[in-house]
Amino acid sequence: MAILETKNLCKIYGNKDTKIEALRNLNISINKGEFVAIIGPSGSGKSTILHLLGGIERPNGGTINVNNIDINTLSDKQLAKYRRTEVGVVFQQLNLMPMLNVKENIELPLMMGEENIDQDYINELINTLGLDKRKNHLPSQLSGGQQQRVAIGRALAAKPSIILADEPTGNLDSKTAQEVMELLKMSSKKFNQTLLVITHDENIAKKADRVIHIVDGEIKKLENNI
Ligand code: ADP
Ligand code: ADP
Repeated sequence: MAILETKNLCKIYGNKDTKIEALRNLNISINKGEFVAIIGPSGSGKSTILHLLGGIERPNGGTINVNNIDINTLSDKQLAKYRRTEVGVVFQQLNLMPMLNVKENIELPLMMGEENIDQDYINELINTLGLDKRKNHLPSQLSGGQQQRVAIGRALAAKPSIILADEPTGNLDSKTAQEVMELLKMSSKKFNQTLLVITHDENIAKKADRVIHIVDGEIKKLENNI
């Protein structure tokens, strides 16, 4: 069953002189636990998809159903809760807090809400990501791959059912990129999360259950890897 489904999703940026149709009638359907890669040229609308699915921006048309709820019908307050609890987003810019250590950075999203922190889960997550010996380190004391894993940990902290990641390995060398991706895949499987990853990296796309190819705000073709 689909956990995430868009129907005729549209996003327009700008006004009449600068109008850009970033997404045109996008229909995607993603099943629970599925790992889907989104590929496509620069400017084709990939990040826009993530912003809409993540509840960071609102569409100009169409629907986004997550667990059978149309997130466009949520109030700003409900949408804020959706962002905190239902989806975990890993951005290209890691946005780690330099003054907070690894554990504090991972727990940060939980501090913003009223939900309790499940310490057992957080510790398991830190172990799964191979950060157990780095819990008390500051981001500046970590390698690039470790910093990326902290950002992944932060996205997973609230036990979201969906992980959205924008080029999560874009700044890493190819070996570290593979390792980080394996950890992301492994933790999402372990915690039964659906994984949607934007990537330029063919090796990552190859490992996905399915690849969605976006060109000019539309789906070009679908490929099944399995
Ligand atoms: P991708 O992630 O595939 O590189 P984006 O989703 O970032 O593409 O952008 C899709 C299109 O929408 C591009 O033409 C981009 O210039 C435009 N766009 C994205 N965000 C904005 C914005 N905030 N304001 C105006 N145009 C935007
Ligand atoms: P990688 O091979 O992943 O790029 P590095 O060579 O950057 O790793 O770092 C090797 C180890 O040294 C890592 O475990 C990292 O945590 C640690 N390290 C790197 N820079 C610092 C630092 N400034 N302070 C403390 N530890 C560091």
